Amino acid sequence: MAMTHDVQQWQCIKHCGACCRLAPDERPEALAALNDSQQQTYLAMVGDDGWCIHYDSGGQRCRIYNERPAFCRVSELGALFGVPAENLDDFAISCCQQQIRSTYGGRSPVLRRFNRAQQPVNCAN
Ligand code: SF4
Ligand code: SF4
Repeated sequence: MAMTHDVQQWQCIKHCGACCRLAPDERPEALAALNDSQQQTYLAMVGDDGWCIHYDSGGQRCRIYNERPAFCRVSELGALFGVPAENLDDFAISCCQQQIRSTYGGRSPVLRRFNRAQQPVNCAN
């Protein structure tokens, strides 16, 4: 009989945008993972207020979503940080939690909403 265990499946939530806060002093590990040309792209996107210049703070959404850089895509996190596919959900969840904590606070409604949205799935391998 196969062993089963619970894993969580990463899920982005609406009206968050915490990962679009790019202030380099708040995200040194993100910047360090990028190559030179990606770092240039990243730094060129940092607005005076620390948020990405493409972030629509009113609508809490990316204005260039379909053309956003690779490092904004969760599917690219594994390659950037050398995370194996089976650990990607856990890795993405902790990245989001860290980003939400630093942007909105550890007791924020956004963090509670995010944690509730991470659905445990029963995994049979
Ligand atoms: S921090 Fe995570 S949950 Fe929030 S917008 Fe970014 S990817 Fe989505
Ligand atoms: S390009 Fe879009 S997804 Fe990437 S940080 Fe800016 S607003 Fe966020």
